Amino acid sequence: GQSDIETEVLVLGSGPGGYTAAFRAADLGKQVVLVERHAVIGGVCLNVGCIPSKALLHTAQVISEAAEFARHGVSFGAPELDLDAIRGYKNGIVSKLTGGLAQLAKQRKVSVVTGEGTFTSPHTLVVETAEGRKLIHFQNAIIAAGSRVAKLPFVPWDDPRVMDSTDALEVQEVPKRLLVIGGGIIGLEMATVYHALGAKVTVVELADGLIPGADRDIVRPLEKRIKARYENIYLKTQVTAIEPGKKGLLCKFQGDRAPAEDTFDRVLVAIGRWPNGKLIDAEAAGVSVTERGFIEVDSQQRTNAPHIFAIGDIVGQPMLAHKATHEGKVAAEAIAGENVHFDARTIPSVAYTDPEVAWMGLTENEAKAKGIAYEKGAFPWAASGRSLSLGRDEGLTKVLFDPDTKRVLGAGIVGPNAGELIAEATLALEMDAEAGDLALTVHPHPTLSETLNFAAEAAEGTITDLY
Ligand code: FAD
Repeated sequence: GQSDIETEVLVLGSGPGGYTAAFRAADLGKQVVLVERHAVIGGVCLNVGCIPSKALLHTAQVISEAAEFARHGVSFGAPELDLDAIRGYKNGIVSKLTGGLAQLAKQRKVSVVTGEGTFTSPHTLVVETAEGRKLIHFQNAIIAAGSRVAKLPFVPWDDPRVMDSTDALEVQEVPKRLLVIGGGIIGLEMATVYHALGAKVTVVELADGLIPGADRDIVRPLEKRIKARYENIYLKTQVTAIEPGKKGLLCKFQGDRAPAEDTFDRVLVAIGRWPNGKLIDAEAAGVSVTERGFIEVDSQQRTNAPHIFAIGDIVGQPMLAHKATHEGKVAAEAIAGENVHFDARTIPSVAYTDPEVAWMGLTENEAKAKGIAYEKGAFPWAASGRSLSLGRDEGLTKVLFDPDTKRVLGAGIVGPNAGELIAEATLALEMDAEAGDLALTVHPHPTLSETLNFAAEAAEGTITDLY
């Protein structure tokens, strides 16, 4: 049988965009139904994205620091890995967070409906639940259906040795030789994990550099470090075939310096993500979806159908959790009648590799391409006492300023903890801070955060201390 539910606000998808929107709408007094096809809420980020990857990256960091610690006079010997326990630790963190989310939903009286949802009209969505079909009548809807792994057509996905990021996070085994297809953030993060666990890693990237979106000077220290540790990094190279065999997966390459073929024990495909716009019958609700599956929205996250909003990965790049959550708040507040807009000056990006690579605002690549004038202050971490104490000297902090107003335009940081450090630069940009503001703010010494202060001082010509 079919049962009907009436609600003021329907949220489709329970990722960082969806749960934030649902909670905000409920806090603003709205009656909310949250639809999620998985039994556990939290979406990609909590279940198979940001959080599990960071749990494994912490494990990786400790292993690789321990391995290099002999230089500090302490040797730990070879690590003994218990993959079940490593996976269990990671899963424990995920369930703590998703369990917490379910509690928060309950407290707010957000009712969660489990099942695949598709629109059937501008004011109805049907959900296929375990207890049968449920028809949800809504006044407003927020589409937060996210994205999925992009699949190369020729890949033999039914072979268990072929992995996407979700499979890779399960660390079923540590392959002797791993091929990572895609030198973007997700591919390189998983490469960091598997390398630390003992795999010989090869990375293939189509573009002429790793992490194509970032400036070369903040990617170079990462490139240099992993070149010395990984088996191979093939740039400007394409994988054209993967043939499963008894001895492994035979991969064929086309590109600059790659061999014609090579055999690997496992392959991770991390070539990007596709938006889910075409999978929800948005047209039935009168919502337009682009050729590629994105949903276009205005600055209030409103689609072409004025009572329906969309947020997160499904509305476009950058596909990042912190973008989704902020958009979720805007959509919920707009529905509640508030005069809000998504007007972030920038959305920071972080690769949680070793070293980390982080950037925000204007990049030098972009400035050069668009002819935007800028001044640069840079501070190499080889002169940071704190960085040297960590046993690392390859970091760099740079800040771009407007040559006339001296306002912060952008920043790039590479080094341990760059992902934490970029937040201060992001605040500076949002607050219209000038070089002098960063230079005159007293930072604690010795910290990595000082490097922002020093980069601004370098731009101001007031830098004196190098330690
Ligand atoms: P999603 O998280 O994709 O959630 C959408 C939800 O909608 C899913 O739960 C899905 O099941 C559900 N859904 C879809 N269609 C339907 C339907 N028809 N019916 C019912 N339910 C449906 N971002 C960061 O900012 N930092 C990171 O460190 C980071 N690391 C990542 C690591 C990996 C391995 C991956 C894959 C991604 C990572 N991301 C990271 C990206 C981040 O996960 C996404 O940007 C974020 O999850 C997007 O949130 P969202 O709310 O748009 O959608």
